[in-house]
Amino acid sequence: MAPATARKQIRVRGIVQGIGFRPFVVRLARQFQLNGHVRNTAEGVLMEVEGAPGTIEQFLQGMAAEPPPFAQIEDTLVTELTPTGATGFAVQPSLDERAQFALVSPDLAMCAECRREVTDPRNRRFGYPFTNCTHCGPRYSIIREVPYDRPQTTMAGFRMCRACQAEYDDPENRRFHAQPNACPVCGPSLTVEPDAGAEPIPEAHRLLAAGHILAIKGLGGFQLACDAENDPAVRLLRQRKRRSDKPFALMAPDLAAIEEFCFVSDADRQALEGPQRPIVILPRRPDAPISPAVAPDNQTLGVMLPYTPLHNLLLAHSGGISFRALVMTSGNLSEEPLVTRNDEARERLSAIADGFLCHNRDIHTRVDDSVVRTFEGRPTLLRRARGYAPYPIDLGAERAEVLACGGQFKNTLCLTKGRYALLSQHLGDLENYETLEFFRETLERMKALFRVEPRAVIHDLHPDYLSTRFARELGGETIAVQHHHAHIASCMAENHLQGRVIGVAFDGTGFGTDGQIWGGEFLVADLTAFERLAHFRYVPLAGGDQAVREPWRMALSYLLDAFGAETAGLDLPLWAAVPARQRDVVRTMIRRGVNTVQTSSCGRLFDAVASLTGVRHEVTFEGQAAMQLETIAEPGIEASYDFEIGSGPPWQVDFRPAIRTLIADMQQRVPAAAISAKFHNTVADVIGYVCQRLRTAESLNRVCLSGGAFQNQYLLSRAVFQLRSRGFEVFLHCQVPPNDGGLSLGQAVIGAHLLKPKAPTRR
Ligand code: ZN
Ligand code: ZN
Ligand code: FE
Repeated sequence: MAPATARKQIRVRGIVQGIGFRPFVVRLARQFQLNGHVRNTAEGVLMEVEGAPGTIEQFLQGMAAEPPPFAQIEDTLVTELTPTGATGFAVQPSLDERAQFALVSPDLAMCAECRREVTDPRNRRFGYPFTNCTHCGPRYSIIREVPYDRPQTTMAGFRMCRACQAEYDDPENRRFHAQPNACPVCGPSLTVEPDAGAEPIPEAHRLLAAGHILAIKGLGGFQLACDAENDPAVRLLRQRKRRSDKPFALMAPDLAAIEEFCFVSDADRQALEGPQRPIVILPRRPDAPISPAVAPDNQTLGVMLPYTPLHNLLLAHSGGISFRALVMTSGNLSEEPLVTRNDEARERLSAIADGFLCHNRDIHTRVDDSVVRTFEGRPTLLRRARGYAPYPIDLGAERAEVLACGGQFKNTLCLTKGRYALLSQHLGDLENYETLEFFRETLERMKALFRVEPRAVIHDLHPDYLSTRFARELGGETIAVQHHHAHIASCMAENHLQGRVIGVAFDGTGFGTDGQIWGGEFLVADLTAFERLAHFRYVPLAGGDQAVREPWRMALSYLLDAFGAETAGLDLPLWAAVPARQRDVVRTMIRRGVNTVQTSSCGRLFDAVASLTGVRHEVTFEGQAAMQLETIAEPGIEASYDFEIGSGPPWQVDFRPAIRTLIADMQQRVPAAAISAKFHNTVADVIGYVCQRLRTAESLNRVCLSGGAFQNQYLLSRAVFQLRSRGFEVFLHCQVPPNDGGLSLGQAVIGAHLLKPKAPTRR
């Protein structure tokens, strides 16, 4: 007897759009000779499958066992239907269910198969810079609306040719329903300027080889490129971008090229070659044939592999021209958002670039290159953007819908929906009108894309952050969250921690509940509240932002604090670099408390030590002095300085004994490299010692490390070692940055926990 026929509706939620899920379903269904159809919905994929019950079961198992490479199935719901007897298995048009919500795939790097086609002279896509398939290509950057279908992307205006349409319609083809599918006949094309008559790629090669600066329209925005080995070209780019000494990122053709100028571990290699293709921070070889102007005073380089066919073509040998590495930095003026439109590029980048390599596929959403660094074999995100955003952070349980506005610097915003935190891509420093506009635009788009209606708006405690002002102007319920509490909550959220933890939050600047500037903080926190149980002893911060730009001011503060006497340390080489008049003015400011706040900032302590040891007295971006101090730290030194713990709680961590001995070391000509190592060791000792005390007082064994200071690998590894050897369980960041880029996630989870949950609704 033939088995009875069943028909089932199968609803799959998760990242199942834009990664070849429907073609996969069609192939699988045909393999099992099942009938029915599949379609995208606004929350995922919906299918109806008809056939023998046992076969449907096998089909479901097959789907769960080997989904396409980038699919993330969150859940599968199966319901019984009445068989219809219809035959065949087809893709049906998408259902628009506006109330629902779907996860959107990040942009994915070109896959190996597409790469093979682009480099094969017999293939019809040979040398075609916009080649993609269901496993790779643009997604988030071109999606205007969900469901993810071609008319809802910036590919809407390109009509597929017959050959492309045939691929698109063929379930056996890798390009079955590949929405951005294109070829040289029907798809986007390149143009080059100023010589518009030239062949774009060879002309771009020629310009780069001649030492010119090229503006390139990439995946998520414009980039500025030049030959990284050509020192005058790199210097010219730095001069024309007219800003800080921030390192430029590099793009190299392959791993072998990267190994010529960096040391690459297994974890680094995996990070470099992954589908996200981030910039990976790598230790630089001393003999690296790279212009020193790429990353001044830095022993690391940020390197990435080509991630689009266009980048592959640019980095490939051709006509006797090849590059070991190209500088590939953000196409913007100083700290403004990336330029995305061709006309905008001509207007705003013409003072920087000598030539333009543009194309006619619009970038709907701006996404910078992401930055990672590996620690203990796994990548830590330092800038979360292309390849990662808008991939959600799973919160483990449904939460109230909120908007968190993040901090002032390295801003991101965060929305919660269902059990997900939807963290925006890196938006930048909210210091100019353009970045604030980018913030507003991203908020509106994410709200629409993910159908979020926030019940409350969460912001930092700092009254002057633009993100705080924006939150207050929005109106409705607002919740202020202390900066370092948000850092710790962010680390807790991505590690799925509940209950109370010890939080070590070390960074440059965060507004405290007492109106002072915090930054060397030991908290006991959960997802609703915190107690500040210890912090670095307050020292004066003279002149606000000026004190951040001029680390010597902090050196003076620490000298006065450690010695009392105003003449102490005046023989240090540091004072040869600072005019005596300026020094006297600042000393008077400190003495009288004029334009001065108190700070417990860890970043400012690092600034002070960098200046005291003669490493750097002025900076062009925050963290520069600390980075340089880390760079020179001599490996293999175990010694450290003494510190004291004042009465409390909150206990004051007193570095005065350390500063006094450090000055004595300077006077005895101990090399700065050794002093730097001893100082780093001291800060790690403090972490171990204070956490030990908190454990005794609070009986807690879990420690979260967060804040920008933990981007310092020497400090991080030393602190982790200190804590583990004392038996602590240590939690670090991985998916979101330890710096202020992760703040909005922490704010969002705290806000969502503080709001009373709504009555549960059936979905
Ligand atoms: Zn591909
Ligand atoms: Zn075509
Ligand atoms: Fe911070």
